[in-house]
Amino acid sequence: MKCTRCRERAEVHLRAHNSAFCRPCFLFFFRRQVERAIAGERMFAPGERLLVAVSGGKDSLALWDVLADLGYDTTGLYLGLGIGAYSDRSHEKVEAFARRRELPLQVVALESEAAGLAVPEVARVTRRMPCAACGTMKRHYFDTAAHQGGFDVLVTGHNLDDEAARLMGNVLRWQKDHLARQRPVLPPTHPKFVRKVKPLYLLGEYESAVYAFMRGIDYIVEECPNAAGASQLVYKDALNRLEAESPGTKLAFVKEFLRTGQPAFATVERREPEACTVCGMPAYGAVCSFCSLVREVQTKRARTVAASA
Ligand code: SF4
Ligand SMILES: [Zn+2]
Ligand SMILES: [Zn+2]
Repeated sequence: MKCTRCRERAEVHLRAHNSAFCRPCFLFFFRRQVERAIAGERMFAPGERLLVAVSGGKDSLALWDVLADLGYDTTGLYLGLGIGAYSDRSHEKVEAFARRRELPLQVVALESEAAGLAVPEVARVTRRMPCAACGTMKRHYFDTAAHQGGFDVLVTGHNLDDEAARLMGNVLRWQKDHLARQRPVLPPTHPKFVRKVKPLYLLGEYESAVYAFMRGIDYIVEECPNAAGASQLVYKDALNRLEAESPGTKLAFVKEFLRTGQPAFATVERREPEACTVCGMPAYGAVCSFCSLVREVQTKRARTVAASA
């Protein structure tokens, strides 16, 4: 098969795009897609300070690589979730990536923070699904780091597969308030929030894996051990089957939602957040969801101690 761009021998076939690329042309294509997403959605401008949330996986490291290459002012943010060997290895990958490219990196280890709580402990004590606890904690620490560090934008590596799976979950339950906020750019709704953007929202995980491979990025290949129980994986599997039958389904699902469906939900009203009475970060109520979670852990732990005394 020949490269769609230069007619040399192609290495990658992208059925959704009806294209095939040689290595240099694929790298060009990937970067161009990121640049187009940034420009098309007005995600950020040169000179703005970007905090890039990196997990050690292919998507976030590929994204950081592209943004640094494009000359943006980037700082990585790695959250140590305390998920055993998976967290140790992903931390090593992120540290090595930042060192090799001499990029600034902030590391926040959840266990060493004031609340002293890692994801598995919170999930165990509160009997929540680990991903539910993890989501609340990630949001809190991302928002806090972006605000305290004076960043303009928080950048995440969510890709097309993540967005399509999330859209499917939101549609299956008709979660209007979630659909109202499912966009690749979220403007801040509070002075302590920064703009949140997803420059990979139209690139699939296969594409970021190919990019990472071609660029020699050493990322953590294994999934988080908690991912197996997550409903997102079921949606991803269903979407992959649809995609195999009809290439381009995921891209059309997300793009057409953003073009025609999302504006209809954008009018769903949501209260403006106020300040959390415990941590001062934005909250929909007196206490933010992170501080309520921490309180719940403390109360349940105290009960266990009292019961065993
Ligand atoms: S799979 Fe779940 S627990 Fe693991 S990092 Fe993702 S959200 Fe967190
Ligand atoms: Zn080519
Ligand atoms: Zn709070």
